[in-house]
Amino acid sequence: MIVNFKASNFRGDCFVDEDFVPYLKKMNEVLKRFNYTWIVTSSFRKTANVKGAIVTPAKKSNHMVGHAIDGNLLDNKTGVLYNSKKLGDGLGEDDIVCAAIDVETGLRWGGTFNVPDSIHFDSALNTTNTKLWEQKYKELNS
Ligand SMILES: [Zn+2]
Repeated sequence: MIVNFKASNFRGDCFVDEDFVPYLKKMNEVLKRFNYTWIVTSSFRKTANVKGAIVTPAKKSNHMVGHAIDGNLLDNKTGVLYNSKKLGDGLGEDDIVCAAIDVETGLRWGGTFNVPDSIHFDSALNTTNTKLWEQKYKELNS
């Protein structure tokens, strides 16, 4: 089931699978410790499938099952906003915050990908449990 996740250090609509919520709760704890806010720019993305014509897409995005979020990072102490250009550029505390989230929550930071996607966090469900990814995809598109 898709829910709209809310937490003290999250801003913006954050539509995710209920099984993804525990990761975000841990992420919120890290954000609190560093005094940062995650401003969600994208979360669950539904594909435009016609009912009864469920075709599993070749690229199994975690956004399609509510197991990924994109966003910008706001430093509450300085007001600096780390957007897609600044996130993970090797300058500033944002890299430390994202690395801490990656290490402590079980989430994967896109900044560590071969093709970096520094605004992205996910649970890696598409690779660690493809069957469950497909099951959730079918439930959300039937
Ligand atoms: Zn993403």
